[in-house]
Amino acid sequence: MPRLVRTVAAYGELRGEMGKVSFVPTMGALHEGHGSLVRAARAHGDTVVVSIFVNPTQFGPAEDLERYPRDLEGDLAKLANWGCDILFHPGAKDIYPQGLGAFRVKPPAALADFWCGASRPGHLEGVCTVVTKLLGLVRPEVALFGQKDFQQWRVIEAMAEDLALGVDILRCPTVREPDGLAMSSRNAYLTTEERLRARALSRALAHVLAEWKSGVRAVDRLEARGREAWSTATVSFPEPIDPEYLEVRPQDLSRAREIEGPGVVAMAARIGPTRLIDNVLLSDDSPDLPLLELLS
Ligand code: AMP
Repeated sequence: MPRLVRTVAAYGELRGEMGKVSFVPTMGALHEGHGSLVRAARAHGDTVVVSIFVNPTQFGPAEDLERYPRDLEGDLAKLANWGCDILFHPGAKDIYPQGLGAFRVKPPAALADFWCGASRPGHLEGVCTVVTKLLGLVRPEVALFGQKDFQQWRVIEAMAEDLALGVDILRCPTVREPDGLAMSSRNAYLTTEERLRARALSRALAHVLAEWKSGVRAVDRLEARGREAWSTATVSFPEPIDPEYLEVRPQDLSRAREIEGPGVVAMAARIGPTRLIDNVLLSDDSPDLPLLELLS
């Protein structure tokens, strides 16, 4: 079992003995996506530290902070299998000793005024704030994040460089269910029917990737292909739903009409009440996803 450390003071006493630390911050309710990060972390440090902290500042007032899934016992057992040495599980008072209204770290609009930054006001600011604090407390040499949250990873990578945080930020590929659905702690909210409908996200993205691999580089054509695939996949849903966003950009997340180097297609959509996000890298070595038939 990993050693469970619940306070900043207790962690501080251990840090001197840890050597090179590789760090995976999470909000718990762990799944194989987290597992891939923890396993990758093993190769990058002497000590693997995972944090579980459901960060209040990255949730909007109407969002799911209270009901976000929590399962410390189950998480500990998984972390033991994945090779985690220390689970840092602080309370809100440890992370926000001055309260939630104290210092915040604000990402620049060029990286944060679109996609999840637009549909979840304050979300990326909350993420930058908590990640800065966790990096300062855990003091890792390396921190690993999932491609699943591509914009979050890009913002954190840019933040670490711009603020000279002295930590290497690594990105790990998205882990998916066999039918293509990206693993997420929020998948636990889905009913059986919604779980089937949730395949529509990866299906739409799969069609954009296929279009890109066929040589199309115009952003409007790639996005139109994604929306068309989404409409086909969702035609028999009880109510029509538009994606919150479905957009293609270069991987640095600048705006472009043509994708010259590697790109990324990202989307968010509500399946029932649950908001899901997903993205696929547009590059030659990007693995193909299942192109499913009509979903009901
Ligand atoms: P979370 O617990 O959702 O805040 O996620 C913690 C870390 O795990 C973040 O860096 C996520 O991007 C990453 N992650 C979440 N889901 C996946 C997945 N399906 N594949 C790979 N990484 C993931």
